[in-house]
Amino acid sequence: MPELERHQFDVLVIGAGGAGLRAAIEAREHGMRTAVLCKSLFGKAHTVMAEGGIAAAMGNANSDDNWQVHFRDTMRGGKFLNNWRMAELHAKEAPDRVWELETYGALFDRTKDGRISQRNFGGHEYPRLAHVGDRTGLELIRTLQQKVVSLQQDDFAETGDYESRLRVFQEFTVTDLVLDRGKVAGAFGYWRESGRFVLFEAPAVVLATGGIGKSFKVTSNSWEYTGDGHALALRAGASLINMEFVQFHPTGMVWPPSVKGILVTESVRGDGGVLRNSEGERFMFDYVPEVFKDKYADNEEEADRWYTDPAANRRPPELLPRDEVARAINSEVKAGRGSEHGGVFLDVSTRLPAEEIMRRLPSMHHQFKELADVDITAQPMEVGPTCHYVMGGVQVEPDTGASSVPGLFAAGEVSGGMHGSNRLGGNSLSDLLVFGRRAGLGAADYVASLSERPSCSDEAVAEAERTAVSPFSGESGENPYTLHMELQQAMNDLVGIIRRADEMDQAVERLDELKRRAANVVVEGHRQFNPGWHLALDLRNMLLVSECVARAALLRTESRGGHTRDDYPRMEAEWRRKLLVCALSGEGVTVTEQAQVPIRADLLDLFERTELDKYLTADELEG
Ligand code: FAD
Repeated sequence: MPELERHQFDVLVIGAGGAGLRAAIEAREHGMRTAVLCKSLFGKAHTVMAEGGIAAAMGNANSDDNWQVHFRDTMRGGKFLNNWRMAELHAKEAPDRVWELETYGALFDRTKDGRISQRNFGGHEYPRLAHVGDRTGLELIRTLQQKVVSLQQDDFAETGDYESRLRVFQEFTVTDLVLDRGKVAGAFGYWRESGRFVLFEAPAVVLATGGIGKSFKVTSNSWEYTGDGHALALRAGASLINMEFVQFHPTGMVWPPSVKGILVTESVRGDGGVLRNSEGERFMFDYVPEVFKDKYADNEEEADRWYTDPAANRRPPELLPRDEVARAINSEVKAGRGSEHGGVFLDVSTRLPAEEIMRRLPSMHHQFKELADVDITAQPMEVGPTCHYVMGGVQVEPDTGASSVPGLFAAGEVSGGMHGSNRLGGNSLSDLLVFGRRAGLGAADYVASLSERPSCSDEAVAEAERTAVSPFSGESGENPYTLHMELQQAMNDLVGIIRRADEMDQAVERLDELKRRAANVVVEGHRQFNPGWHLALDLRNMLLVSECVARAALLRTESRGGHTRDDYPRMEAEWRRKLLVCALSGEGVTVTEQAQVPIRADLLDLFERTELDKYLTADELEG
């Protein structure tokens, strides 16, 4: 048996998307020897796929915008379930993070007078998304990588070694965290190509592993979104919150089947695109909920006037938060007014000149032309909901990203709280930078405060290795691909966009059964690049995270944001006061209620009392 490869660092960052890279930069800038580990190629994190933009109240397109308005929009979007302190930090710090990106070398699209251009998006009162065409994530990742390289060049000048303080390990999957008496001591995993195991010893780990979408059949997410960070945190003893809230983006491609679920950016609607059913009706006017009636137009004329005169008109209902639009599309299709392939029509061709569409939405044009043979400058797109984002994640301390496990931090999509029950578009990229920076700093401060370093025991490492090789041990057993397909189908059908108790009961039973079968999963061949083995290990995480989603969704007997129940269609103020917390005890997931920390009085004062009446209980309003 070859000797185990070992490395020592101060801070390990698992994930090289926006959150991970920003955390790593901060930790390195605070003097920590930092490693970034990512299971995909460096540069191919999910963040690179982000299209529409990054939300920050810079006030460039409308000088009335400020952090207070952004805070209000974020809380409304999340139906007031958000961790208010995170929403406050996010709204206040997002503009600085965008400016900082430009100091790293980013170049956002400009207004005519040279300011960073900002576009409209659902749920944002003013145009607020800084963007680079519809390829914003690419620019964000490119810039953060450039900053990593420039720091490495500084280190070379000082130490003669580019990687002396900041090193990237790509195509490397972490399978387990290693603890020492309850504290983080390191992480164990394998090189995807050779299958060789590696132990990273470090007293602090920042999880920045992104989301969980690959547990669902129709998703905009790519292969690495298997909930690894969520599961690593649970197994280490941390808790997850808000797991019942899964965002189904209203507009994914529906045809042809091979591309079902691929995202159609919200910028299409932000830039004027409208939704119509098979009868040609612009149906969103029928779906403006009571809480938003004063902010959204109830007729086409007013909605259209808003694009040129937003101060005097209410917004088009196509720009309602995503949960509302996704439910509306679902209802239209169910009512028999869907398109041929089970979606509705999104049309920008009749709203903007062709050259403007090509300028503003080049990736969308390319995507539809190449994948569906549709020219979006002349034809409508067929779209329907797709699993897109998980609001739930590791419960963290808002200012530092610290979890309840000493040495374990989390930032980005893997963390929970910031977005409440529903995330607004554009608020993820800003979340990554604001809380990535804070988690990197939190980890650096934690390491600096330690008087002794935890160590990775031989037994803990041997246990992690045994778990990782277990799929090779049986002669015959379950196939990981079959189990994955069954899991995706169950989550789509039973814990999808519209939920009911009897279906979620079935889901919990199905998940139990799949978990039993997964214990007997068998893969063929060797550890050298073996996708079946990789999937078998990912499956363990997907099953655990799916169980959290199903069990929490079953308990929350109301509808709110990304959790819609047929059997409990109302939003209940009492439920706003409660978080559902998932933890791991023995082999099972437990879900318990936790009281929300009351919103600070000066933040509550930012809202009209009539609006608070819609969300808060009488007690809270009196208090
Ligand atoms: P990611 O960028 O996904 O990075 C996760 C990293 O973790 C990857 O490097 C991965 O390899 C690594 N990893 C995972 N598991 C392991 C493991 N076990 N071991 C080692 N490494 C691991 N948001 C916006 O705000 N604006 C937008 O315009 C926008 N557009 C979007 C468009 C699309 C198509 C999609 C899918 C999402 C979009 N989002 C958008 C959402 C946003 O892109 C994501 O929420 C965000 O990028 C997540 O960033 P992250 O840093 O948390 O994770």
